Amino acid sequence: MMDRQKIVVFEGDGIGPEIMAAGLDVLAAVTQGTDFTYETEFLPFGGQAIDQVGEPLPNNTINQAKRADAILLSAIGGPRWNACPKRPEDGLLALRSELGLFANVRPTVVADSQIDQSPLKGEIVRGTDFVIVRELTSGAYFGEPRSKTFDQAIDTMYYSRSEIERVMVYGFDLAQSRRQHVTIVDKSNVLATSKLWREVGQAVAQRYPEVTVDYRYVDATAMAIVADPTQFDVLIIPNLFGDILSDEAAQITGTIGQIPSLSAGATGPKMYEPIHGSAPDIAGQGIANPISMIKTVSLMLSQSFHQDKLAKQIDEAVELTIRRGQVTPDMGGTLTTKEVTEQVMNAMQEGV
Ligand code: ATP
Ligand code: MG
Repeated sequence: MMDRQKIVVFEGDGIGPEIMAAGLDVLAAVTQGTDFTYETEFLPFGGQAIDQVGEPLPNNTINQAKRADAILLSAIGGPRWNACPKRPEDGLLALRSELGLFANVRPTVVADSQIDQSPLKGEIVRGTDFVIVRELTSGAYFGEPRSKTFDQAIDTMYYSRSEIERVMVYGFDLAQSRRQHVTIVDKSNVLATSKLWREVGQAVAQRYPEVTVDYRYVDATAMAIVADPTQFDVLIIPNLFGDILSDEAAQITGTIGQIPSLSAGATGPKMYEPIHGSAPDIAGQGIANPISMIKTVSLMLSQSFHQDKLAKQIDEAVELTIRRGQVTPDMGGTLTTKEVTEQVMNAMQEGV
């Protein structure tokens, strides 16, 4: 018997609680009768925490999160908290830095059932299966100084060698467990931080002789992602460029309602969340696509708990459900969040 795993749950705002319930139902179903046991701990975070205790990241939430084996988050934020001194998103930035989550990992997979949904046509997109590793805690979003007056604004793009090295190592390790190909993305013909990015990438690459490496400028990569997405395996990208390219990559699958992500540090729990926001426009209507959260649970099972078999059961059931057209309106279907979740659980039962 394995130890009982502690999963901290942030239900989130907007559609968050609706899709989290779906993810946890699937988790309970897939683990039932196996030797994987877990407990969930629901903690206030984001807008929900502002409402309850006046602050998006309460101390107790941080402390409990640090002791978790994994963290599940749906999505936080919404216009309701726009006027708050500290917004839900501030809580998320603080949590990432408290937990040292420097690598944000987003798979882009186009299953055969999704090809018709993709804005790219047919054979260009068939077989797309790559992962973006985005640096998450430095670069343009964190560099100081930063200021704005009426006439002038300054942002600072900063990277240290060690910040680059740890995310490179994360990406190369990941590539070793996949198709052993890395694309290092930067703008090293112009930016100093990008020159260092590429230099450190080249040094780390030496330690992984079995991994083949490409070096690409970010603009060329943006074109290649839509022109020939099947060529990529693992892309390692600085924070700002990674933010942009990972949204571009998400669109290849046709909907953001079905893509999970994880954020990892050197040690400590990883955090798992769908890539989309809290979708306040459809909250409470029961039509949010739960597949993003269900796949988030699957990603957690494989990446934090090495339960690849359970993860595969979920993924195959999701694939079958999509193939059968049993999906929510954002994917062209007519089912509710609950109905899609039930279909996925039925498909798991069928033992596909
Ligand atoms: P954020 O700033 O938090 O990233 P955003 O402005 O990018 O938020 P999202 O909340 O991601 O916006 O939503 C973008 C659009 O996609 C909205 O119309 C929303 O309803 C839709 N959407 C997002 N997630 C889902 C989902 N799980 N199911 C269905 N529609 C979704
Ligand atoms: Mg967004």
